Amino acid sequence: MTTTTRKIQMVDLKGQYQKIKPEVDKAIENVINTTAFINGPDVKEFQSDLEKYLKVKNVIPCANGTDALQIAMMALDLKPGDEVITASFTYVATAEVIGLLGLKPVLVDVYPDTFDIDVEAIEKNITNKTKAIVPVHLFGQCADMEKIMAVAKKYNLFVIEDVAQAIGADYIFSNGTKVKAGTIGTIGCTSFFPSKNLGCYGDGGALYTNDDALAKKIRMIAHHGQSVQYVHDVLGVNSRLDTLQAAILKIKLKHLDEYAAARNKVADYYDMAFANHPKLKIPKRVKNSNHVFHQYTLQLNDVDRTKLREQLAERGIPAMIYYPIPLHMQKAYKDDKYKAGDFPITEKLCANVLSLPMHTEMDEETLKYIVDNLLELVK
Ligand SMILES: *Cc1c(COP(=O)(O)O)cnc(C)c1O
Repeated sequence: MTTTTRKIQMVDLKGQYQKIKPEVDKAIENVINTTAFINGPDVKEFQSDLEKYLKVKNVIPCANGTDALQIAMMALDLKPGDEVITASFTYVATAEVIGLLGLKPVLVDVYPDTFDIDVEAIEKNITNKTKAIVPVHLFGQCADMEKIMAVAKKYNLFVIEDVAQAIGADYIFSNGTKVKAGTIGTIGCTSFFPSKNLGCYGDGGALYTNDDALAKKIRMIAHHGQSVQYVHDVLGVNSRLDTLQAAILKIKLKHLDEYAAARNKVADYYDMAFANHPKLKIPKRVKNSNHVFHQYTLQLNDVDRTKLREQLAERGIPAMIYYPIPLHMQKAYKDDKYKAGDFPITEKLCANVLSLPMHTEMDEETLKYIVDNLLELVK
């Protein structure tokens, strides 16, 4: 095997930028020339473009995905002591805002094949204090929304979809209806962090909802609880999407489907190479969602992950662990209630997952290099 010192990246933001550079540079220059840095016309235009793309009545841009989740919980009037159910296997932001607002995060385990929240476990954890469920469409494939919505309806709960990793994914109901991830629950929350599927060149986020009254409230909370200038009706925050970021996102949104297709090509290649490998389990694809592959995540079986990562790194191949420590084992979220062993699937995943380079600019030669090396190292 050749030991070239090539440097492969998990995400190739530069290559992606090169392809849209003239348009992006012009948009940035326009914002600077007009000095419309805050709430410039691009913000409204991007909002409207995204509403059309998602087929949702309201998109409310904000400063980042974590803020989106926090604002959602504030807009739903969740109060200290209220319980919010979410997955134990997710990025920390989901649980962080629950804790920050004095709400009680109630963690539940995930399904071993899809990494998504276990719906039976949700129902088992519902109490008379439960107010909301926060499913996370992890790695780019939707959680089982049809079942989650049925549980939410039965117990009269809000559903806040964390769609930070799955913007553009379609959810397909059993009757064939197709809708965009994040537009099914009460509110959808997304992130435009640079490495996300629709990434800006800094921080950004948005909330989606089909409820007009709720949208009005969300907008108000994101702008200091202001209804009319200098009139503040509710406690709010300051969370805006910069005009510069909106201008960039407006351009990138036009490419989102093509980006998803490029990611799927990479995933198909990996799937072909690793399917039926005794030590590598490929990510399961479900029929009620398409996959936009924010991450391509393998589960290793009987492989020394630390050593494998080192060996791959020596060959210029990065591989990441999303996520190494389950939420209930994090110092900040340790609760007397939780101990090691409480979420066996999450704990097993944290020990076995490995995400491979996944981006829109991958060429076949690089893919072959990654696959050949991985297959050589994992026998
Ligand atoms: C990235 C991410 C967030 C937070 O988004 P930021 O824009 O970084 O604040 C929340 N939830 C999940 C699942 C994420 O991947």
